[in-house]
Formats: sequence, structure tokens, C-alpha cells
Amino acid sequence: MGRLTAVVLGSAAGGGFPQWNCRCPVCRLAWEGDSRVRARSQASLAASADGDRWVLLNASPDLRAQLAATPQLQPHGGVRGSPIDAVVLTGTEVDQIAGLLHLRERHPFTVYATEATLAILADNTIFGVLADDVVKREAVVLDRPFSVAGMEIELFAAPGKVPLYLEQGEPQTAELSQTNVGVDLRAQGKRLVFVPGAADVTPALRARLENADVAMFDGTLFTDDEMIRNGSGLKTGRRMGHMPIDGEDGSLQALSGLSARRYYIHINNTNPILIDGSPERRKVEAAGFTVAEDGMEIAP
Ligand SMILES: [Zn+2]
Repeated sequence: MGRLTAVVLGSAAGGGFPQWNCRCPVCRLAWEGDSRVRARSQASLAASADGDRWVLLNASPDLRAQLAATPQLQPHGGVRGSPIDAVVLTGTEVDQIAGLLHLRERHPFTVYATEATLAILADNTIFGVLADDVVKREAVVLDRPFSVAGMEIELFAAPGKVPLYLEQGEPQTAELSQTNVGVDLRAQGKRLVFVPGAADVTPALRARLENADVAMFDGTLFTDDEMIRNGSGLKTGRRMGHMPIDGEDGSLQALSGLSARRYYIHINNTNPILIDGSPERRKVEAAGFTVAEDGMEIAP
């Protein structure tokens, strides 16, 4: 009998940390080798109930390096093979799906995602490198659990928006749809909920997190306008479909009082919680949150 285990393959938002073209105050520390910050790859989790069969939650563009850094996910025995049984997708942003391209080479696994997400993958013909006769694509209905590798997994809608490359005009930034979902993962009586992107904490989302042992939540920006203020972007977090951490309508407040162990993941390179000892880091830690790091192992 194993134990439900999750490994943080990557903890940064799209672009990673530091971002290749960024010298914002936080990236600058990373470029200069300041010991208060550590590089982070783009957000993804690996989960297993038995230590042998693993499920990836999202496949980031950094997947190849993430696998190289994670012995549990490397081939064991036989000429070809991988302990990766499945990939569960929470959406189709570049940082959620581009890593699927690393998983070509005829290893059988199953991609689980909503019908809407699978339709977007089907429209992007490059994903045809995952040959139909080897890689199965399974449509998942929201709020209906399915079993994979000894775990029960359920996808649920999280307030958010369509991916940037599919925006037409002004998108709805906090809609509930199949295109932005969270993952509710259960095994051996333990429960982990993964919500890498959320524009809001609705009562239903809060209720789901109430019953979790571990909650991993969208930590993209500390303040809604931080990218505008530091000159690295023109958009607020909310416009990108991500609620801020701080402030009256932030996630720190919305997730207060939960009994779950709480982690921030999907952290943008501009977010000062990336800096050890910063006032923002101290604030989230004082509220009971852990800032996820690449390689962290979490047993709910
Ligand atoms: Zn930056």
C-alpha cells in the first residue's frame, strides 16, 4: 500500500522564473544570482498513489528538464517505458499543454481533459505527433470522478478565461466553463485540490477546498496591478484571469480559515513572494501558506 504523493515539477507561472526577457525587480535578483531567490520552472504537478504509476497535472514546456530532475518519473527497467500513465489538463494555455510534445516517442498514456480542451488540442495539429493508436484522449465530464492509476480524480470549473491565443476582443475573465478547471484528487482517504488558475473564489470553490487535506492555489500575482507598476506589462492580474493574493478581494483573504495545508503555485516572475524574507513572503507565510518550490514533495 502506497501513499498519495505529489511532486511539484514546476511552481512558476507561464514564462517561468526568471523569464527569458525580463529584468523586473524580482527577475533581476535571479539574473544576478541573489541567494534569496531560486529559479523555477513552469507549473505542473506529478501525483501517485503507489509510487509506481504517475499522473501529470498539466504538461509544461519545461517538462523535459522537470523529468530529468525527478528520478521517480524516469524509465525503470526495459528498453523503453515510463512510469507516466496519464496527463490531466486544466486548460490549454501554452504552459499547460506544450509539454505534451515532449511525450511523443510512442509511449502509451492517456490524456484526460474536458471536451472543450480536447477540441482545442485537436485544432492544433502539431499534437498529432501523439499518435492516436498509442496516446488515448479521454473526454472528462465536470464534477464526475474517474479512476486512473489508483486515484480518483474529478475536474471542476474554476472561474477563468480562454487562453490568450484564443481571445477574440475582450474576453470574459471570470467565467465558469470547461476551458479552465481545477483538479480534485483522492486516494487512500486523502485529498489534494489543485487550482493553478482562478479569477475568483466562489462559494462552491471554497466548499471544495474546505474538505481538502492539501490545497494548491493560483499565486500568479501578489497585487492586481504589479505588472503595470513595475513596467513589465500592461495587464492586471484579473484581466489575465488570475485573482491577486493581496487585498480585500484577494485569495489570502478568500482562503483564510481553511484547515487544508495551503500552497501557492503558478507564481509569476514579478511576484515578490518569490523572494525569501520579503514582506510579501512573510505576509503569506504568517497567514499559513507555503510558497511552492520546484522539487517539493507533498504527502497529503
Ligand atoms: Zn520578471
